[in-house]
Amino acid sequence: MFQRTLRKLTLLISLVFLLIFIVFTSTIYGYISVRQFDKIDDAMRMQAQSFRLVSERNAPFRGRRVFDPRIFLLLRSEDGRIANLAAFRNEDNANLAEIAAQSQIGEIETKEYETHVYRVLCVPYLHEEKLLRTEENFVIKDVIAVSIVDTEIGLLNYLLWIIAGGLVMGMAAIIAASYYLAKRAMIPIEAAWEKQQRFVADASHELRSPLTGIHSNAELMLRHPENTVEQESNRIHTIIKESSRMTKLIASLLTLARSDANKTELQLTQVDLSELIELVSEHFRPLEELEQIQLLVDVVPDLKLVGDKERLHQLLVILLDNAFKYTPKGGRITVAGAKGDKNILFSVQDTGCGIQPENLPHIFDRFFREDKSRSRDKGGIGLGLSIAKWIVDMHAGKITAHSEPGNGATFKVSIPVGKLQKES
Ligand code: ADP
Repeated sequence: MFQRTLRKLTLLISLVFLLIFIVFTSTIYGYISVRQFDKIDDAMRMQAQSFRLVSERNAPFRGRRVFDPRIFLLLRSEDGRIANLAAFRNEDNANLAEIAAQSQIGEIETKEYETHVYRVLCVPYLHEEKLLRTEENFVIKDVIAVSIVDTEIGLLNYLLWIIAGGLVMGMAAIIAASYYLAKRAMIPIEAAWEKQQRFVADASHELRSPLTGIHSNAELMLRHPENTVEQESNRIHTIIKESSRMTKLIASLLTLARSDANKTELQLTQVDLSELIELVSEHFRPLEELEQIQLLVDVVPDLKLVGDKERLHQLLVILLDNAFKYTPKGGRITVAGAKGDKNILFSVQDTGCGIQPENLPHIFDRFFREDKSRSRDKGGIGLGLSIAKWIVDMHAGKITAHSEPGNGATFKVSIPVGKLQKES
């Protein structure tokens, strides 16, 4: 199912790598090709501009190489003739004549003629002594500096080949690296997807059971219209029980769905946790007598923190509800609260059945229940602790479960006091 995404991601990462490679190598190539000609261009400019007939004493006829041995100076007349062409080697003559004919005053150009590449610069000859005493009395108009740059161009071509070769060989490495990165990036996505799938499947399953109960009991009641409410009280009771179970389940699912979508914002206020614990414990007092379980509250006063009162209330209800659910008659539940360094610590401890050590790591997973039928009998749906963990996480706190089977369970919560508390 993720193969297409994997392929697309691999392609995308490869393209990014390729783009980086191309930008990087073309920057290097561009820089080298510009810097390559810097020296020779400067020398050409200097020689062309400083050439003066008088100082050279008609030298171009005798020695064609001045300063830089690779630079030729051509003297061009108004009608485009080259005065000193005869001074160059025969095989150069044709090319030089063509270069001279085409050169225009201005920027330095690179020109290719036959097997050579030339760098060419044409400058006007601005000195007074312009007359070259030849048979035709040649008047100099422009000086053209020419340099053969075959070696530089050869080097650049070589560099280009290296880059192209590197690209071809690097492509395989780029694709392999991209595939590896894409595969790694897919791991959390796949895990999240699987988790979501499992969650949807579990939720549908959990919703189906109460619905089946409601449906079958209602159908059975319809078969006996003559029965009185009293006679059908068991079925009515089941329908009510199952529908309130469904309501609870839907509310929990909604909370978790919102938490997944990061849609729930905490309503932060200053909360007195000591008071909140007392309040929630009072709600559970009637169960003390009903279930014959002792509820002890040992909380220091004034445990203030910045948090969402509603959510913290929900957290305490979940923990106390579980403690009552999984503690048999004659047991004891202790709620304790104390101030830590920068945190507020509280715990709910019971003397119930406890949790098997191998199940402790899964206790906060959605729909995890040690004993499904027992939890179901007690009205459990396996989402309470997931919601509890989410609430604690949202408060940047920590919740842990401790248990020795048979010796009860303890849930410890630590929540940072938050900013408002420090400011006040
Ligand atoms: P449930 O609705 O089933 O109680 P929870 O998410 O609240 O779902 O708890 C998950 C499971 O953790 C329970 O089914 C139970 O097996 C175990 N559990 C939670 N609290 C306790 C406790 N105080 N003592 C023993 N087991 C507990």
